[in-house]
Amino acid sequence: MALERLCVGWHLLCEFLRLRCWPQPRSRAALLRLQQRRLQRFLREDLSAIPFYAAVERNSLAALPIVDKATVLSAFDRFNRHGITRDQAFAAAAQAEAGQPAGLPAGLTAGLSSGTSGAPHVFLVSPRERGTWAGVVLATVLSRASLRQLLTPWAPPLRVAFFLRANSSLYDTVDGWRLQLTWLALTQPLPEQLLRLQALAPHILVAPASVLGTLARAQLAGSLSIAPRQVISVAEVLEDDDAQAALQAWGLSPSQIYQCTEGFMGSSCEAGYVHLNEQHLLIEPEWLDANHTRFRPLVTDFMRSSQAFVRFRLDDVLRPLPGPCACGRPTLALARIEGRADDRLWLPDASQQLQPLYPDGLRHAIARAQTEWPADATVQDYRLQQHGLRWLLSTQPTLDAAHRALLVQALTDVCHSAGLGPPEIAHAPWVADDARSKRRRIRCVQMPDSHIHP
Ligand SMILES: [Zn+2]
Repeated sequence: MALERLCVGWHLLCEFLRLRCWPQPRSRAALLRLQQRRLQRFLREDLSAIPFYAAVERNSLAALPIVDKATVLSAFDRFNRHGITRDQAFAAAAQAEAGQPAGLPAGLTAGLSSGTSGAPHVFLVSPRERGTWAGVVLATVLSRASLRQLLTPWAPPLRVAFFLRANSSLYDTVDGWRLQLTWLALTQPLPEQLLRLQALAPHILVAPASVLGTLARAQLAGSLSIAPRQVISVAEVLEDDDAQAALQAWGLSPSQIYQCTEGFMGSSCEAGYVHLNEQHLLIEPEWLDANHTRFRPLVTDFMRSSQAFVRFRLDDVLRPLPGPCACGRPTLALARIEGRADDRLWLPDASQQLQPLYPDGLRHAIARAQTEWPADATVQDYRLQQHGLRWLLSTQPTLDAAHRALLVQALTDVCHSAGLGPPEIAHAPWVADDARSKRRRIRCVQMPDSHIHP
């Protein structure tokens, strides 16, 4: 365990120093050269240890097959170098969330992801990969003032408040040293969250975009008084109204981290656009239109060797910025990430005041409920719609009564732990989305009646 922490810390420090203190590629051509060097080494040295790729020609990336979540889940043990099966990985992820040792070899950690498509996914990371990941995130997001505080021995440790649907040992990595990281569960009642946050007085506030919006409105209404120096949005697309609320509440524009199962995808620059993490990933666009305005990314992560993410097709739809970004970075900037916009749902608490339930918490509950289901029974996609105190749940494929009841139970548990009266949850037939509409998996069509509005 101590050795593992040392390994994580060492790789964190190396990656952090490399990114913050070493000259970085300034031109697109220099960035592509760096990418190719790393890719060639990855194809030559790391990929042969992954059974799925052992027998295929690995000289060029273009010759390798394109894979997606379904391909990887159907042959999970062939996509990692330790032969860990899908069921073992899901069980280890569920144990890690319950605070129990996962029992995987080589210090591996399993993480659960609710994914953009709605189907649950699981991933494996080694201590070295956890360290590198934490180093990249810190080097990318810490402002100069935060970095100065972190490195000044007599200054108080940098306090970070992190709202997340579940604690994960992946994120646990960055706790300690000069950094004090505190987790706040999204499933707790809002008044409790506000009290804890107030007591913490964080320098940095990290939360899904919808949570940031709610906290900013609480600050504007006088029920919260904190003065963070950095506000960072994760897990969801930052909508304009939530960004505006944060700006009014704290005088700060939130920066964005674009993170998914497949790794640290990118973060926003001073100009407000998310830049892809092309130093660690190679992202091939699969264009969706003739004018090349929207694409699905095929991700190859050449820093991950315990589980392969090679030409892995993400569910997200990305809109690149036409032309280079004003900030001057050579990495590809995005005008927009589509397909991650879900609504907050609202339920009354004991005093009939409406309180929010965050989409990230609901998505996660649905994913976690399925960790022990057989592969052919899991939900590929779902819609959850609120009509007052009635929620309509539809799934693709349609589930049998027993599995439906398990999902209803998982959602009811989320309401209970937030101190809210659960809604009536009914099942609705599956209807595919209109391709032109803004995809919202979790939608509040109508809020419940309440005498006191939030
Ligand atoms: Zn930029």
